[in-house]
Amino acid sequence: MKIAQHNGRAVIVIGDTVADIANATQGRIGPDMSSVFDNWDEVVALGQSITTGDTPLDMATLGCPAPTPRQVFAIGLNYRQHAEESGMDIPAVPATFTKFPASLSGPYSNIEIVGASVDWEVELVAIIGRQADHVAAADAWTYIAGLTVGQDISDRKLQMAAGRQFSLGKSRRGFGPMGPWIVTPNEFDDPNDLALGCSVDGEVVQDARSSDLIFNIPTLIEELSSVLTLYPGDVIFTGTPSGVGMARTPPRALTAGNVLETWIEGIGTMRNTCV
Ligand code: ZN
Repeated sequence: MKIAQHNGRAVIVIGDTVADIANATQGRIGPDMSSVFDNWDEVVALGQSITTGDTPLDMATLGCPAPTPRQVFAIGLNYRQHAEESGMDIPAVPATFTKFPASLSGPYSNIEIVGASVDWEVELVAIIGRQADHVAAADAWTYIAGLTVGQDISDRKLQMAAGRQFSLGKSRRGFGPMGPWIVTPNEFDDPNDLALGCSVDGEVVQDARSSDLIFNIPTLIEELSSVLTLYPGDVIFTGTPSGVGMARTPPRALTAGNVLETWIEGIGTMRNTCV
C-alpha cells in the first residue's frame, strides 16, 4: 500500500488514482496525515478492502507524507564510506540528531539556498506506525508504517558553527523534502536492501544500497526505542551514503537553479528545485 498527502488530504494511492481516507471512513480518519498514523491498523485494513480510487492521481499536488511528526530522528555517519569521506570514525552507537519538524517539506518543494554551503544527502526514511518501547530488532518491522524517500539538506557552515549544531544546520526552511509517498514494508522483496541515489542537474552524485547501512532500520528501532518512546508518525532519516558535496575536491554546494532528483528503489523519485 502507498499512502500520500494529495491536495492536502490523506489518501491511499491505487495505480493512477487515489482514495480519500476521510471520505472512506466517514471522516473518522483523515484528512490530516497524523490521524492516519494514529489509526494505522485501521488504515492498513482499509487499504486491503479498497481496490480503486475515487480521484485521478495528480503528482504535482503531493505534499510531505508525514508533515507533523511528534519526533524526527536523523542518523549521522551511518554508511561506512560516508564516515570515511567525512574523516570521521565509525560510531559505536547511532549518531542521532533531529531535523526540526518545521523543516519538513514535500517531494517537489523548492529548496531555499542560503549561503554557499548547502549540501545534498539522499536518505531512506522510515515512518513509525505503532508506539514502540524496548522493541527488539527482530520485531522492528512490525512497528514501521512504511518507507519513503528523503533529503537531509544541510547547511554545512551552520551545521559546524558554534562547536557543532547538526540539528539547526539541517533544519532551514524546506531542508527536509520527503515523498512522493510512503510504501508499506510488505511491498518490498527485501526492505533492508534498496538502491538509493540522487543527481544534480542530471549528474548522479550519490548511488548506493541501503544494505550498506551500519545500523539498519531494525537496529535503529531497537536502539532508539531502548532510550525513549517512538510514536506513530515519527520520522527516522537513516543516514546518507558517500558522495555528498562537502567531501568533494573542491567542495561542491547546491546553487539557485539546480534541480535535485532523489530516488529509492521501490518507492519513487523526488524532484526539488533550488531557488
Ligand atoms: Zn543525513
